[in-house]
Amino acid sequence: MTDLRLATISTGAISHNVETLRALVAPAQVMAVVKANGYGHGAIESAQAALAGGAHWLGVADLSEAFALRDAGIDAPLLAWLHQPGAAFSEAVRAKVDLGISSIAQLSEVAAASGTARVHLKVDTGLHRNGAVLSDWQRFFEAAVAHELAGRIRVRGIWSHLANAGAEHDAQQIDQFSAALAMAEAVGLRPEFRHLAASEGAIKYASARFDLVRLGISTFGLAPADDVDAAALGLVPAMTLSAPVVSVKRALAGVGVSYGFDFYCESDTTLALVPLGYGDGVPRHASNRGPVTINGARGQIAGRVAMDQIVVNMGDAPVAIGDRAVLFGNVAGSAADSGTASTVPSVDEWAAAAETINYEIVTRIGSRVIRRYES
Ligand SMILES: *Cc1c(COP(=O)(O)O)cnc(C)c1O
Repeated sequence: MTDLRLATISTGAISHNVETLRALVAPAQVMAVVKANGYGHGAIESAQAALAGGAHWLGVADLSEAFALRDAGIDAPLLAWLHQPGAAFSEAVRAKVDLGISSIAQLSEVAAASGTARVHLKVDTGLHRNGAVLSDWQRFFEAAVAHELAGRIRVRGIWSHLANAGAEHDAQQIDQFSAALAMAEAVGLRPEFRHLAASEGAIKYASARFDLVRLGISTFGLAPADDVDAAALGLVPAMTLSAPVVSVKRALAGVGVSYGFDFYCESDTTLALVPLGYGDGVPRHASNRGPVTINGARGQIAGRVAMDQIVVNMGDAPVAIGDRAVLFGNVAGSAADSGTASTVPSVDEWAAAAETINYEIVTRIGSRVIRRYES
């Protein structure tokens, strides 16, 4: 049976990407970030594929994501960093989940948990999201030393996160981070893992790699920024999104298509109905723009994206019910595709069509879409 909505995930691509990135950033270690359901690729399968490719660490945002990996039997080093007050810190300690800690209050809470928490102290070096602010660093580090001497915590890491606001700002953050490390050392902290860079920083700046880099989007074969060429780095996109054509009709010049008639056929044309819509993460903002390949021919969404379906304008290309429509992906290595490498759209093209970033395109692929894993 063919699946109605299918995301084919190449675990081999994920392993290959980690291997490739590991060679690029060595001797720094690699943390594969598999938060948000592995950027839509499936957290557990992505984590396993990343570990097979040589990832030293796994990273997730919150503890429920961390526990899901542990429940799946994954015992690799694992860091989680986004916590509400009253989070399950004792359970995290029991499950050997390292904790990213962003404030003195959070540090106290973790120190009060049962067992010895393994923490990575996060400093805000300019992003203004998580992490202790500059004026708190000294007290933050001193509190950590006190808790460590009392046997309540072990400080395994000190870390921060780049804003990717340009090379100059990034360089300032690298300097700020180095200042934080010096301050931590001066009060007696000896972290094994100093880490700052996500995909963009890790790829662009050797000086941002420190002991460990946290790689999300690049693990899945996609570029973290417009000025990074993922293919040139040897990265392979891991997800292909496709569905069978469920209806084909010939439409006459001048007729309107889909809700609101935002599209009128300029000439007689073939319209293919594809059962993927915004309920599956196809951005409605890509109405009239999103590219689709069927039988190696490029078409484009005609009219508005609906909740469950899109209409694809295929011109005079031959299309039959049951043919596979590919929205984006990596054709080589995927049995799901009937297109060729040159015509299948990329995730980046969809990001452009929807005026967003590739991260959002793959991460929002919905739960109705069956994930099928191929090596
Ligand atoms: C999501 C995330 C990453 C991974 O970012 P990419 O740009 O996908 O590599 C790294 N670190 C933190 C703190 C994150 O939240």
